[in-house]
Amino acid sequence: MANSLPALFFGHGNPMNAIEENAYTRAWAAIGKRLAKPRAILAISAHWYLPATLVTAMDKPRTIHDFGGFPRPLYEVEYPAPGDPELAARVQELVSPVAAVQRDQSWGLDHGTWSVLCRLFPAADIPVVQLSIDETQEPAFHYEVGKCLTPLRDEGILVIGSGNLVHNLHTYAWGRHPVEPFDWALRFEKQARDLLVADDVEPIIDYESLGRDARLSVPTPDHYLPLLYVLGLRRAGDRVSFPVEGVDGGSISMLSVEIGSE
Ligand code: ZN
Repeated sequence: MANSLPALFFGHGNPMNAIEENAYTRAWAAIGKRLAKPRAILAISAHWYLPATLVTAMDKPRTIHDFGGFPRPLYEVEYPAPGDPELAARVQELVSPVAAVQRDQSWGLDHGTWSVLCRLFPAADIPVVQLSIDETQEPAFHYEVGKCLTPLRDEGILVIGSGNLVHNLHTYAWGRHPVEPFDWALRFEKQARDLLVADDVEPIIDYESLGRDARLSVPTPDHYLPLLYVLGLRRAGDRVSFPVEGVDGGSISMLSVEIGSE
């Protein structure tokens, strides 16, 4: 459809990406320059993971520094994008066939959202709303919620998911020299990419059935599930592309997945 926005999944990785220049942050900035400027952004972040589906509905979401042990400049980053209570209401309406989404006045923008958006849209002048991930639900639920959000693509709303396709912090090389990616991480990433290109979504939703590589790559669902929301917005014939690639610290996939780009 003409003027339909793409939907994007971002591997956000280390929060330091918000303030350190590297190949990932340069690629995020390039995406922001390439995209048509959206009217507003709806973000599904791995870091708002709780037993309910909530949508931020405040006028001025705060910047949440939801991590520990990082250098002071990271705590000083602010992303003062406005909220969009009307978009929150639209999300409630669209998702109502699948879940009763409640309005939230206490969250804001967590680092899954702002560490990427500060590169994509550094001016912070586009309203941002976050949708939480209900940790009590099966993977198929998250895909169904994403499907409900598809009309937003024609309403000037950029929907982004922020997590990591492969996210194993037990094996991640924090602050060490660059390390080679684990073979299981590369195999799982390749398998997921092939399924995405083939538009074979069922095994991606049912990732727990994909064996040992999947178990090591997705030890907990939180960073994987934002991808399922984005895939829900895919329409028949939509192109899929991977505008950011790479594995950080051996076991964090930085892969971005873009659905429906021109
Ligand atoms: Zn994270």
